Amino acid sequence: MADKSQKLHAIFIPYPLQGHVNPSVQLALKLASQGFTITFINTESVHNQASKAHSKNGTDIFAKVRDSGLDIRYMTVSDGLPVGFDRSLNHDQFMAALLHVFSAHAEDVVNQIIQSGQKVHCLIADTYFVWPSKVAKKFGMLYISFWTETALVFTLYYHLDLLKRNGHFACTDCREDAITYIPGVKSIELKDTTSYLQETCSTTVCHQIISNAFEDTKNADFVLCNTAQELETETISALRKKMSWFAVGPIFSSGFTDRIVSTSMWSESDCSPWLGKKRNDSVLYVSFGSYAHLTKKELEEIAQGLSLSKVSFIWVLRPDIVSTEVPNPLPDGFREEVAGQGMIVPWCCQKEVLAHPAIGGFLTHCGWNSVLESMWCEVPMLCYPLYTDQFTNRKLVVDDWKIGINLSNQKIVTKEEVSKNVNHLMGEKSGEAYRNSVKEVKRTMENGLKPGGSSANNMDQFIKDLKAKIQNIK
Ligand code: UDP
Repeated sequence: MADKSQKLHAIFIPYPLQGHVNPSVQLALKLASQGFTITFINTESVHNQASKAHSKNGTDIFAKVRDSGLDIRYMTVSDGLPVGFDRSLNHDQFMAALLHVFSAHAEDVVNQIIQSGQKVHCLIADTYFVWPSKVAKKFGMLYISFWTETALVFTLYYHLDLLKRNGHFACTDCREDAITYIPGVKSIELKDTTSYLQETCSTTVCHQIISNAFEDTKNADFVLCNTAQELETETISALRKKMSWFAVGPIFSSGFTDRIVSTSMWSESDCSPWLGKKRNDSVLYVSFGSYAHLTKKELEEIAQGLSLSKVSFIWVLRPDIVSTEVPNPLPDGFREEVAGQGMIVPWCCQKEVLAHPAIGGFLTHCGWNSVLESMWCEVPMLCYPLYTDQFTNRKLVVDDWKIGINLSNQKIVTKEEVSKNVNHLMGEKSGEAYRNSVKEVKRTMENGLKPGGSSANNMDQFIKDLKAKIQNIK
């Protein structure tokens, strides 16, 4: 039993991908600023890649915040593969290691912490892990599941069995009509569900991860989600009837662009001098996140479409965007052709770029962090989802919140479509409605984070409930 004055100590294990580490670090900082002691555990691979990108990171990414008084400790653990293994090129092997091998390493490191005599009250771990509730139980900790995507995607996965029973998933001849029976979701077309739910094969390593992870999550004591209640009211109300489920997002540092903890896994190019010379709202920011790949054909059409549009752009062209085996995927002469129009960088501080007044639109793969960051910066989106939850996020952005438009509907986009849609979004008149709507959404999110707002209240309630539950553990 925890005595009342004792600080709560949580071990925090994020999923070892950029889009999960970023919000996890922010949540860790938030909880530490509420008085928690946090032991944050990155994989050695994530740590090494981020250290290469930021030579000043050293062995502890939280060293600076500890100096400012927050009690965050830092450790690393193997994900089961050699550090130098190309996880981008060997995606399935990487996922298989996370599914089958990582739990042994995670358990080992948790055991080390407990054996050192430290009192740990809870384990905060990404919902996509398949093991946290079992490890938490073994060491007498509560399990807090951290979901870094939308409530809508959470509830789709939570109801996998219902989808199966109704013939929408994992069947030989699946239904193609809309899904209308998930609590809190009026209706959703199959094309708007996640890529995994649309696939005919339902036994891949990613499917095994999702189904095992959501079985494990059903045993979580609490779920924290990086969304805002007002954005997904009905879905969240339905989930809250089943679990201790809290929408506490968007989880950003108070300064939004603060980089006191460097988490980028590639070295960031400075775009500010270039952006500083551009008119307000005149530049399109283009990025497909940290993980998704484009085919060479898609990339060429997008490149030629950007050039055709004549709109200024900053394009994050990750070194492995097509594959680590295709280091120069752009059409010959493209860089020279657009030298006066665009800036092409391997990686940047996306928050800083999106927050720049020159940015007027975001051509995005609709990763959930990118959507949240774009909304926070009042930047409307041109949506080009590639896989996983990005199709569902696109539905929310385009169909529900009306803060963006589609670039394509899952078929290969042409350069003419790219040019037409870029100009539509960026146009002073044609883009106005999206710019106005996204300002509204920003206001809603901002109010949610203020004292008395939904996300602030949910965070307070979560901490209160957590403390009460710990008190009750005999
Ligand atoms: N990001 C960044 N610099 C870039 C591209 C992306 O810092 O050049 C960050 C972005 O701000 C976001 C994360 O990487 O926090 C990507 O997460 P998201 O959920 O959008 O996509 P994922 O990478 O998971 O597909």
